[in-house]
Amino acid sequence: VRVPRVYRTEAVVLKAFDYGEADRILTLYTPQHGKVRAIAKGVRRIKSRKAGHLEIFTRTALLIARGRQLDVVTQADTLEPFRPVRDDLWRIAACTYVAELVDGFGMENLTNYPLYALTVQTLRRLAESSSLDLTLRAFELQLLGLTGYRPQLHRCLQCNDVIVPAQNRFSSKMGGVLCPSCGISDVGARAIGIPALKLLRNLQTNESAVLAVNGLDETVEREVESLLRDYILYRLENRPRSLAFIDRLRAEAAGARV
Ligand SMILES: [Zn+2]
Repeated sequence: VRVPRVYRTEAVVLKAFDYGEADRILTLYTPQHGKVRAIAKGVRRIKSRKAGHLEIFTRTALLIARGRQLDVVTQADTLEPFRPVRDDLWRIAACTYVAELVDGFGMENLTNYPLYALTVQTLRRLAESSSLDLTLRAFELQLLGLTGYRPQLHRCLQCNDVIVPAQNRFSSKMGGVLCPSCGISDVGARAIGIPALKLLRNLQTNESAVLAVNGLDETVEREVESLLRDYILYRLENRPRSLAFIDRLRAEAAGARV
């Protein structure tokens, strides 16, 4: 019999679902232990003192006992509730998407402190920012960089030539840009416009400056979104469910504008 070991960590709650009479199973992202699956027992009882500290998206300080199958949360104290997030459908959709990607790209038992910091920073931005879309694009690019999938945006993946303004292509399969002469090396590669490539590059290296700018061209933003979505879906096993939610909200907003 393995004696449970207790450890302290902070975590962001990525996912939570009810289990049994009063328990909840959580997917957590932590700075030192990567992704952790844990059970919070009795948390749905009215008198539970842990309950409010384990809501989805909450950044929380935990005491966890290692279990044989699932770790067990024994104490929880909210550090940041990210409460504004809960009142706004757009922000909920965006935060759900962030949680799903961290869940999809994050590894269990693998320390990735920068990914933890990125998650917290993105939730903070989503609680306050007025440009949710750009915040998500910046998050996607940083996440890809921190998990080994940084897209190559400066040199052709096939011939290594410097990419210049021309009819370049973006290959999800190869993970970056192909020059006009190498475009055929991946038939699935999509045309990428010069403004879209520029925005991708800026988001990859200098995202806070981009986020400070207002009024970027919406067509370019949509192109970048679509390219990144293709690339992320190519890398992920499961399609994030929040994508349908985001698309529906956008369609409704477009409908309301007409
Ligand atoms: Zn080339």
